[in-house]
Amino acid sequence: MSESTMQAVVCHGPLDYRLEEVPLPQAPPGGALVQVEAVGICASDLKCYQGATKFWGDDDRPAWAERDVVPGHEFVGAVVDLGDEARERWGVDVGDRVVSEQIVPCWTCRYCLRGQYWMCAPHDIYGFKRRTPGAMASHMVFPPEALVHRVSRDVPAAHAAFAEPLSCALHAVERADIRFGDVVVVAGCGPIGLGMIAGAAARFPAAVVGLDLSPAKLDLARLCGATHTVNIAEEDPAELVRSLTEGYGADVYLEGTGHPSAVPQGLALLRKLGTFVEYSVFKDDVTVDWSIISDDKELDVLGAHLGPHCWPAAIRMIESGRLPMDQICTHQLPLSRFKEGLDLVADGTSSIKVSLVPE
Ligand SMILES: [Zn+2]
Ligand SMILES: [Zn+2]
Repeated sequence: MSESTMQAVVCHGPLDYRLEEVPLPQAPPGGALVQVEAVGICASDLKCYQGATKFWGDDDRPAWAERDVVPGHEFVGAVVDLGDEARERWGVDVGDRVVSEQIVPCWTCRYCLRGQYWMCAPHDIYGFKRRTPGAMASHMVFPPEALVHRVSRDVPAAHAAFAEPLSCALHAVERADIRFGDVVVVAGCGPIGLGMIAGAAARFPAAVVGLDLSPAKLDLARLCGATHTVNIAEEDPAELVRSLTEGYGADVYLEGTGHPSAVPQGLALLRKLGTFVEYSVFKDDVTVDWSIISDDKELDVLGAHLGPHCWPAAIRMIESGRLPMDQICTHQLPLSRFKEGLDLVADGTSSIKVSLVPE
């Protein structure tokens, strides 16, 4: 490799990701060049790789993802080069360890102008668009429009990169507006669900109940702050939830599984006037009886996307050492083994968060 090239994974389309030697990028005017220290593989990276219609479109909707892009939106790195303007705007300098929020807003659309930058209309997220190449490479660029935060060097790189999924989980918790007396049920104890449990527990409600099929993930849920766990392969969670709520049902249900059956499960577990927060992305359509939402229970059903305004809290939580990060970040592989990483995420039984570490 010459000094003007670098190793990068490049997405040429579904199932066509290749490790290649590509030109080393340069810091754009007002932006920064960053040396990548670690990049997490997200379930969305896997779905994009597998060709899901949400990314590549079909007869009914246009493609959102673009080809010939370096994937990776959950990363941490060190600033290698930046100008005065970026130094001043972000308050960071060469050598600092930094993360960037996964969406790079346009700052001119309706949503950006109203402060709702996470729903930015063009919606350029690192790793999916040519404007914003991602982190599965030795280096990457932060455009001037990026939102950048500094992270301590005292935590391992893979842990620091977990700020992205954790900020997303914390946003779901904020959407739920949890109160001290609430019984909160979290469906799914993967990276997002564990973050939801940690965030919900930080609000100190009456109970946080974690649901999953894996005993190992339920153990981790307790380490993240769940007061109760139920293995739904063996036990119906309705009984526990009834016993915790004088028979009324849960106040809040946070959905982070992506499995269709978790939706009717939540509608059933909630009490009247309860709150349902949906974070997952589903492969298939979900069918439920909507009259549970209206006539039966008058529920608040809320969506949640990305982690707006939650990055500083996510970084603080990781730096505080209160989360079992060694057990959450289960696998760190070199960039060249990215396919193995995708397979680990697809299998899902032996890993929680798989990260790639550029050599
Ligand atoms: Zn992600
Ligand atoms: Zn915008």
